[in-house]
Amino acid sequence: FDMFVLAFVERFLRPTYRKDDFVLGKKLGEGAFGVVYRASLAKKPSSKKEGDLVLKKATEYGAVEIWMNERVRRACANSCADFVYGFLETSSKKGGEYWLIWRFEGEATLSDLMQSKEFPYNVETMILGEIQDMRKGIERENRIIQTIMRQLLFALDGLHSTGIVHRDIKPQNVIFSEGSRTFKIIDLGAAADLRVGINYIPKEFLLDPRYAAPEQYIMSTQTPSAPSAPVATALSPVLWQMNLPDRFDIYSTGLMFLQMAFPALRSDSGLIQFNRQLKRCDYDLVGWRKSVEPRANSELRRGFELLDLDGGIGWELVTSMVRYKARQRTSAKAALAHPYFDREGLLALSFMQ
Ligand code: ADP
Ligand code: MG
Repeated sequence: FDMFVLAFVERFLRPTYRKDDFVLGKKLGEGAFGVVYRASLAKKPSSKKEGDLVLKKATEYGAVEIWMNERVRRACANSCADFVYGFLETSSKKGGEYWLIWRFEGEATLSDLMQSKEFPYNVETMILGEIQDMRKGIERENRIIQTIMRQLLFALDGLHSTGIVHRDIKPQNVIFSEGSRTFKIIDLGAAADLRVGINYIPKEFLLDPRYAAPEQYIMSTQTPSAPSAPVATALSPVLWQMNLPDRFDIYSTGLMFLQMAFPALRSDSGLIQFNRQLKRCDYDLVGWRKSVEPRANSELRRGFELLDLDGGIGWELVTSMVRYKARQRTSAKAALAHPYFDREGLLALSFMQ
């Protein structure tokens, strides 16, 4: 059965919506390319006042974001927030705007959770439900962070195996799904689907410089700039192997790992300062460590101590993600097989109590 027929039938059987079907609630975010609200269906107002849906009104990039979300729903549904529907709303001013609807996954992004003084224990509570052992310590923190990293890499591996590079991986774009008690990726507005050439031309101006890998282009500038779809389908696995564009997301994920280990990197200014230091060390994380460790405060030392647990496998993993050359970075799939994840994560911890 043809993929496209299947996609068509699926799309046809699902309910379709239009503007008047939705009631808007609180604004959740506003970027250069769209505004995000909580929302609910007009016919079926949610018991919760704010609504059980999320609505993004997007500019011209909304078309790509709808495409990406449709593809993710069919190919790797658990990686991203549950997408409901997307359409072009033409009754508004010039050109119209794209409306995208998702299920409301939960209140908190990883960014919100990381800003709390309780991090990572607040995440432990959310993953395990009401608990628990109040003992705190570096081993426990490491297990929580390991569980978060595993969930992140699992979601990312789903996207990458589908042929999608996200290109804007950061804590603000990782939502905690209260239903599945796992982290999911959101905001496919900057994503590229290299297997079919969608959003093929990298839009560097979309990228968040705080989390972007040093390479300016995720695909070599020598590759053809805008292949027609069938050509791209035939070529892209080769182009993928040549350029390893997924390693761009791996770099961003490595930075998030560092932010979880080092509280000082969780603020904007702290992360920007870290990026400057790393650049000065030619993006060599080992060099960065040598330069800061001798005069490290107790908090920084504690971060190294956490990554050094179990023979330093955490440090080994993060140095395999944050590297200057994309080719030398690990993939999401290989990272999941890293010995750092051999140890039991959070669930096992709860059974042990
Ligand atoms: P942008 O960054 O382009 O403004 P996002 O897609 O990242 O748009 O959404 C903005 C914010 O809205 C997110 O940071 C998150 O707080 C919230 N949000 C987005 N999608 C969901 C969802 N499915 N469930 C809950 N909250 C969401
Ligand atoms: Mg976002």
